[in-house]
Amino acid sequence: MQSVVIIGSGCAGLTAAIYAARANLKPLVIRGVEAGGQLTLTTLVENFPGFPKGVQGPELIELMHTQAAEFGAEFREGHVTRADLSRRPFLIEAGSETVETRTLIVASGASAKMLGLDSERQLLGHGVSTCATCDGYFYRGKEVAVVGGGDTAAEDALFLTRYATQVNIIHRRDQLRASKIMQDRLQRNEKIRFIWDSAVVDVRDVTRGEVTGVRLRNLKTGDETDKNCDGLFIGIGHSPNTALFRGQLDMNEVGYLITHEGSKTNVPGVFAAGDVQDHVYRQAITAAGSGCMAAIDAERYLESE
Ligand code: NAP
Repeated sequence: MQSVVIIGSGCAGLTAAIYAARANLKPLVIRGVEAGGQLTLTTLVENFPGFPKGVQGPELIELMHTQAAEFGAEFREGHVTRADLSRRPFLIEAGSETVETRTLIVASGASAKMLGLDSERQLLGHGVSTCATCDGYFYRGKEVAVVGGGDTAAEDALFLTRYATQVNIIHRRDQLRASKIMQDRLQRNEKIRFIWDSAVVDVRDVTRGEVTGVRLRNLKTGDETDKNCDGLFIGIGHSPNTALFRGQLDMNEVGYLITHEGSKTNVPGVFAAGDVQDHVYRQAITAAGSGCMAAIDAERYLESE
């Protein structure tokens, strides 16, 4: 039986693993489908403290992994297919393997929603990004496009105006979903342009390995046009990876886990960290910080038992 099982191996899960391992709890990390989390989808990370020249996202994750492993964390490939939190110890199934654990740290993250285009996938990290805060800086003096009409797209677009010469918001309808205040800010910003009623049907140019533009389809007329841009930001929202816990852990209306008093969930002994419980900040450093909190909370829970 395990003392601590951690679901997820992004910044939150790995930081929880470092802390739990250093507390001699020999945590078991089940790495998950998107092993390494969202940082593995990005390139240079320039806002993680301690790396004045930046660090590649995948390298940062690799360093955290090595650090956790050196202190005795164990890692398992695969993803959790079932979790029974109604019994003690908790029962976790990952494929054909079953694990019992006294505490559980859920750090399964939130996945950025994607458009589902092959070209989008191939150019991810090469001009296609799901994180304006992470990658906006690279578009100084360039033109970019943001897909989406909600607050994420609005916030991304506004952030990108700090660097880009022009930010085109491509939205599938002719009305934004974003909050009124964000809409006002967008309207007031001279660098923002709107492309209404349009869907991105292709991202160019896969053969060059960089983004040079997008092919758009007007959803009202069916007409297709090309729009040049140097970067494409997908801002159509995130989905927290919490389906496993529906009916077991409290979550908000869109599925983010609800925590209280630090990282506690409604089930004693189950803690949550990172983007799975944070739809506001969603930064590597905040995820790492909450992973640390979850490990300390798990350690204290075990001590008190
Ligand atoms: P959201 O409100 O669900 O908006 C997603 C947007 O993407 C919508 O405009 C939607 O179009 C569009 N979209 C969805 N799937 C698409 C697809 N396959 N192709 C093209 N467009 C697609 O998501 P969100 O913007 O991430 O916001 C989620 C929640 O977090 C909201 O409650 C939001 O207020 C909150 N949030 C707040 C802030 C802030 O206050 N600063 C920042 C970020 C997020 P339709 O409009 O046509 O559905």
